[in-house]
Amino acid sequence: MSSAPVDVAVVGGGPAGLAVAAMAARQRLSVTLLERASLPHDKACGEGVMPAGLAVLDRLGVLSRIPREESGPIRGVRYVQEDGSCLEGALPGAGGLGIRRTALSSALLDAARSAGAEVRDRTTLRSHRRTAEAMMLETDAGQLYAGVVVAADGLHSPLRRAEGLEVPARGGRRFGLRQHFLTVPWTDRVEVYLSPGAEAYVTPCGPSRVGVAFLWSDRQLEERPSITSLLARFPFLARRLAQAEPDSEPRGAGPFLQRARSWATERLALLGDAGGYVDAITGEGLSVALVCAEALAACLPEAVRSAGDVRAFRSYEATARREFRKYAWTARAVLGLARRPRLRRGVVVTLARRPRTFEWLLARTVG
Ligand SMILES: Cc1cc2nc3c(=O)[nH]c(=O)nc-3n(C[C@H](O)[C@H](O)[C@H](O)COP(=O)(O)OP(=O)(O)OC[C@H]3O[C@@H](n4cnc5c(N)ncnc54)[C@H](O)[C@@H]3O)c2cc1C
Repeated sequence: MSSAPVDVAVVGGGPAGLAVAAMAARQRLSVTLLERASLPHDKACGEGVMPAGLAVLDRLGVLSRIPREESGPIRGVRYVQEDGSCLEGALPGAGGLGIRRTALSSALLDAARSAGAEVRDRTTLRSHRRTAEAMMLETDAGQLYAGVVVAADGLHSPLRRAEGLEVPARGGRRFGLRQHFLTVPWTDRVEVYLSPGAEAYVTPCGPSRVGVAFLWSDRQLEERPSITSLLARFPFLARRLAQAEPDSEPRGAGPFLQRARSWATERLALLGDAGGYVDAITGEGLSVALVCAEALAACLPEAVRSAGDVRAFRSYEATARREFRKYAWTARAVLGLARRPRLRRGVVVTLARRPRTFEWLLARTVG
């Protein structure tokens, strides 16, 4: 690997890393992205991109690169309880989009490369240290020097830990498992099926494909669950999928709850799940990551000019804190209800009688 210093090194080629690499390269910064997997990359995800995230993808010119057969419109959200009763509402504006992760990865990769970023997949960051002039990254393919490093290395971010920015998580451990099925989506709403101890949510990801993501807490499910055992907890959904062939391998993730002490230090900023994560229950991780990527990209020229002075990241930290708080508040509120089935049933029934209130809440959180 060449040791010529770059302005920005991005570690992690998930949606957050690829998006910020494209945005930074468009500002004529020299950018190298390191990703340990091969790209485009698949990952456990519900694949619903909410309106705020879609707006960022649109500004990046990525939406037009998503093939129609790899995506499905999301016009609203529907919660389905054990007895079949529902709470549903429309998303604001044109709504969201279910996008197969491989298609999103491919479109963002194109955007990053065509903006001029150098993307090195199958390259793992092993360690890093600060020198007087730059950040030195030791990878399994050699060394790289960068003025600023963006740590977009995911939920269990090795860089967050190595920087001493990790905050120990308190509370129950939640996990997720997803698989796709070949069937024509029966609705243009994201459906969230609720049961004591687990939730399942279904996203249209193409004209003949749905993605199903199961979420659970290890305090409430004793056995190590499989797609089959999880599906058995949701008879309405199991019936829908009875004849549908799987279209992907199951993929899992967790534990979800992760926090960082701050979003930036000297020469380094955390982005996406690396900066913190609460839960997949509200399907907002991608949107938060994309909105924050734009805020970080706006700070990068000054951060590079000032040799990584932490003050250059101030406006990014303010945006990240605001977006994370909003997301965390909603995720904790929905999780709190999911853990208390009796209270949740009461709230669902009450809100179902007030659809405007529910839509106002949706617009406030994902709009
Ligand atoms: C079950 C489930 C359902 C979800 N559903 C939704 C949903 O419907 N909508 C939504 O918006 N969000 C959803 N999310 C959350 C969403 O998937 C994440 O918020 C999103 O992937 C974050 O993107 P990221 O780029 O920060 O991290 P990631 O996508 O995890 O990317 C991090 C990358 O860093 C790489 N990496 C790590 N360490 C190194 C290293 N040392 N060197 C090089 N590369 C490295 C990894 O290989 C990985 O590719 C869901 C998550 C789960 C688990």
